[in-house]
Amino acid sequence: MESYVAYNPTKCIFGKDRLSELKNEIPQYGKRVLLVYGGGSIKRSGLYDKAMGYLQEIDAEVFELAGIEPNPRVTTLHKGIQICKDENIDFILAIGGGSVIDGTKAIAAGAKFDGDIWDIVTKKATAQDALPFGTVLTLAATGSEMNAGSVITNWETNEKIGWGSPYVFPKFSILDPTHTFTVPLDQTIYGMVDMMSHALEHYFSPSPNTPLLEGMTESLLSTVIETAPKLLKDLQNYELRETIMQCGTIALNGTLNQGMIGDWATHGIEHAVSAVYDIPHGGGLAIIFPNWIQYAIQKGHTQKAKQLAVRVFGIDPAGKSDVELAEQAVKELRNFWVSIGAPSRLADYNIDDSKIQLMAEKVVSISPSGVVGRYNLLKQEDVLAILKMSL
Ligand code: NAP
Ligand code: FE
Repeated sequence: MESYVAYNPTKCIFGKDRLSELKNEIPQYGKRVLLVYGGGSIKRSGLYDKAMGYLQEIDAEVFELAGIEPNPRVTTLHKGIQICKDENIDFILAIGGGSVIDGTKAIAAGAKFDGDIWDIVTKKATAQDALPFGTVLTLAATGSEMNAGSVITNWETNEKIGWGSPYVFPKFSILDPTHTFTVPLDQTIYGMVDMMSHALEHYFSPSPNTPLLEGMTESLLSTVIETAPKLLKDLQNYELRETIMQCGTIALNGTLNQGMIGDWATHGIEHAVSAVYDIPHGGGLAIIFPNWIQYAIQKGHTQKAKQLAVRVFGIDPAGKSDVELAEQAVKELRNFWVSIGAPSRLADYNIDDSKIQLMAEKVVSISPSGVVGRYNLLKQEDVLAILKMSL
């Protein structure tokens, strides 16, 4: 395996009825609190009122930034940064899904930075500090609640870029599965595709000798595969929401990459598609990932797909060639995602080939070497080929 440092300072507060922990956690950071949320789901679910109640009990002075978009836009985050600077904010509380949390990370770093936060996102500058923040997660998907990554969109330049900094680990995250009861069917599906994709990004790793991590990743994938069909028929089932919420966090909180470097090209390709067409992240991943695996097989990388077929999808290897087995994994993954209602083609979002060249350019432009991925190295023409397979 690779040499590694494991570091995760986020306090994960998991379970039913833990929202009142806000009263224990926030006062250590100060009284002036910026509450950040999205398009209003937290008002409809009643979570906003409950959180406000606890904030009042600790005499917090609350400022608000509503309207963080899915695929959070830097223009909206500028407003949050301005509030932090003008109002001398001590602490930010994010209540929402990955977009609200990712946006909050940019606000937290931007509040302690003299220039434009977009320069940090694009790596022209590095975050040197950030305001402390905590989260209340309402959608199981990204793992952002317990990692130091963030993905931000710039609509003026049609870019969607991931960045990270050790300063933007949440101080705490409250994970109450009941807060995800109101997540609609489509977002529940996208979330499960996203967490499986995080596991797969880790799994397709060039790192040698990672038996424990591979086994843990397979177990996470199998758990989602077993749980998803049941949850989709019973969206308010506590145990099923609980299982999925835990999978979402563990899939991307640093557990699965201890010594196992992931590929991450599929995420890069999806970000380029979302940057041009504003589609849901999990929807884009469901379309692209099976094609990425198929393309890797065509380039001779069969080993991990073969292992996935046998260990996760339970395919009997007897009498099958490596390529046959590996391609069976692609089929099984595609069939599973289609069976739970995820899209399988860019055409499902009315995306045609008119901008695939532009998207391929965007994917590799983010890499100084012009090559993306680690398990299967992709140049621009390879990305274009995968996008064509995805039409
Ligand atoms: P999201 O974009 O945060 O939310 C999607 C939709 O779900 C929003 O319309 C939101 O409504 C709604 N929603 C959230 N919680 C709800 C609830 N409890 N009840 C009803 N509706 C609810 O979705 P996400 O998948 O969590 O985040 C996607 C973003 O994260 C993408 O930009 C993706 O690129 C990024 N991402 C980040 C990481 C990371 O490690 N940082 C990893 C993967 C992906 P409201 O706006 O009204 O709340
Ligand atoms: Fe993701």
